[in-house]
Formats: sequence, C-alpha cells, structure tokens
Amino acid sequence: MPHSQLRTLMNQQMGATAAARVVQTLGEHGTLSATQIARITGLAKSTISAALSSLRASDMVIEVPSAVRDRSVGAGRPAISITLNPAVGTCVGVLLGGEHIQVILADVTHTVISDASKPMASDYTPDEAVATASAMIWEAYRSRDLSLETMLGVGIAVAGPINPRDGKILRASGVPTWTGVNIADEFKRVLGCPVIAENESNCSAVAELMWGVATGYEDFVFLTMDVAVGGAVVSRGQLLSGHAGAAGEFGHICVDPNGAQCRCGKRGCLELYAGLEEPLARYTSESRQQLTIAEVVSRALEGDQSCRAMIAEVARVAGHGLGIISSVIDPGLVVVGGRLAMAGELLLSPLRTSYQKHSLVRQSGPEVDTDTLVLGSAFSGRGACLGAVGMVLRNCGRSG
Ligand SMILES: [Zn+2]
Repeated sequence: MPHSQLRTLMNQQMGATAAARVVQTLGEHGTLSATQIARITGLAKSTISAALSSLRASDMVIEVPSAVRDRSVGAGRPAISITLNPAVGTCVGVLLGGEHIQVILADVTHTVISDASKPMASDYTPDEAVATASAMIWEAYRSRDLSLETMLGVGIAVAGPINPRDGKILRASGVPTWTGVNIADEFKRVLGCPVIAENESNCSAVAELMWGVATGYEDFVFLTMDVAVGGAVVSRGQLLSGHAGAAGEFGHICVDPNGAQCRCGKRGCLELYAGLEEPLARYTSESRQQLTIAEVVSRALEGDQSCRAMIAEVARVAGHGLGIISSVIDPGLVVVGGRLAMAGELLLSPLRTSYQKHSLVRQSGPEVDTDTLVLGSAFSGRGACLGAVGMVLRNCGRSG
C-alpha cells in the first residue's frame, strides 16, 4: 500500500536513502521543482531523477503544474512541480488551548481537510484532553471517509514549555496540574501513531516559517501577545528549545524587580505588563463592563479610545521587552502573534516605536539596513494548531 510505504520513508532516519530524503523534503516544503529539491537536499540531479521515477511508479508523488514559470524550459511553458500524493498521507494538529481544543486534519501536500474546535472547562485534565481530542480526530477521519491508516502522525500544541529530554511539561500556563505530564506519550497510548508535543508559541513560529510571514527566513523571533505573553526563537531554520525547553519564554523576563508577583513566582515579569490581564481587570472595575480580548481588539478597530489606549499601553511594554531580547539575539525579523496581533497597526506601530527606543542597534543610514522588521502573524491568532501539523511534517525522519 502506498500509504504504508510513505510512512516508512517519512520515518526513516534523515538522509538514509535518496527516496527518503526526497519524500521528507516534499513533506516539509509541500510543492517543489526538481531543481529546488536538488538545492535543498544537496543531492545530484541524477540521483533525484532516479528517486522520483521510483516514487512516481509507486504513486507516492505526483506532478502538478508549477505556479512559477521556469525560464530554463522556455518562455510561456509552465514548469512542472512535484508534490507528495495527497491520497497517501494525512497528519493531524491538535491545540490544547486554555478553554478549547482545536483539531486540524491536513494531507501531506499541506492542504487543510478539516478544522474543528470544541469548548472545554478552564481546568480540564490531561485525561479529558486525550479523550476529547482523540474522539475529534476519529470523527474528522470518519466524516470524510478517510482511513486512519493514512495518518503519519499527530502534533500537539500545549501551553507551557516541554523538556526536550524527557518530554514532560515543565510549567503549564494556567494549568499547573499538567506539570510533569508527558502528553505525547498519553496520546500515543490511545492513538497508536507517532505523536510530537511542543509548546504552543513554538508551534505558532513553525506555522509562520512554513506558511506565514516568516517564509524564507532562517532566523526570527516570535512574540505571542494574548492574556499571557510567550515566544519562540528560530535559528538557522530550527526551533531553539534550550537546555530545559524554556528558550523563548519572553513573558518571564523581569522588567521591574520590585513589581508584583507573577504566576511563575518571580516579580515584575514582562507578562504582567505586556499581557491584557491587568488592563482588562482595571477596565472592568472602572467601567463595570467585562470585555474579552477579541472585544477589546474589535472595539479598538472601530475607534474606541479606551480600548486603543489599552493596546498602545501593552505595546509600549512589549517593545521594551523586545529591546532586551534584541540585546541577546539581535533578530532581523520579529513576528507578533496571539489574539492581540489582530489589532494590526494599532499594536505594531507603538510596539515598533518602543522597540527602536529600547534596542541597542538603531537605524544607521540607508547604506546599512539595521532595522528589525516587525510584522503581524499571518494567522489571526490561530497559527498554533496549524504549526502542530507542520511539526509532524518537519519532524518525520528527525525523531527516529
Ligand atoms: Zn513570570
């Protein structure tokens, strides 16, 4: 069966055979020309041609007209690109959010087949997460008449860092009962397929890298601005996890040693001032109206001055935090995600101004472009689940 052959090739050690390398590269990048495959893999064109012939013969890859015309084959003639056969492989992304679970089912050509969400109580347990998400996954396959045999793997996005050595959640945002749980193992027991779990900001960064505003960048920083503040660092095209899995936890950079106590136990963390929790509580006590983040953003976009002021206030602090980050990493690109990023320039403009003020490297003239590009996420606060799908496609052949 082509799907079991594909699974075998996808999970072979990276670079074990030319066919595995080609399949894994197509899994990660989607649609490519033979020239692009050669550039990415470093394999000779003749080796790639031979691998593609056998993959075509076994229905694992198909040819599609290229969106970009290839000058080498003559003016006006569309070039041919290669993609994995969408019928032979699927993968799943799961977001275990604060109060909901989202499940995306996609095929190996990166096309989303279904996207469903289910509300959950705010203190749901790991067992409830596994039961609910598994039922959602099975329903997604059943309702589209797809075989579970095609499933290459499941990516799980969780709130909180995961120790890369033992896979256990270090300190889950808002759900401390999840600390020490190996959520990938819990899902593996029920689903019986490869499962990879990753911090949700890291998943969001992967979505930007594969399909969003960071496409084509090797190095960038992702900043999540929501009720909580988080982040991720991508270096040379790979996520930086750090010694214990806590790299990119920007929300817990100290900006005021004498400040209030954070939920992490330290004082004056960036999250206390760049997250919306405090401004929202203040707004509620002053106006006796309770607003959600989505309402703050939509009111701000409609011109509500107090909501605009709230967003500008957290943007200024976030710019200060990014200034500290720039002293360590000096990123060329910062992607701002989370639901607050849906405010667009109302958030990004004051954030850029504050960042410039607090960063060491300033605009030094037209001859040397030292400006850091600060862009909003491409996914309206919904990139983490898509990134979990991307984690499966990127990690085939890497996790052994
Ligand atoms: Zn903290």
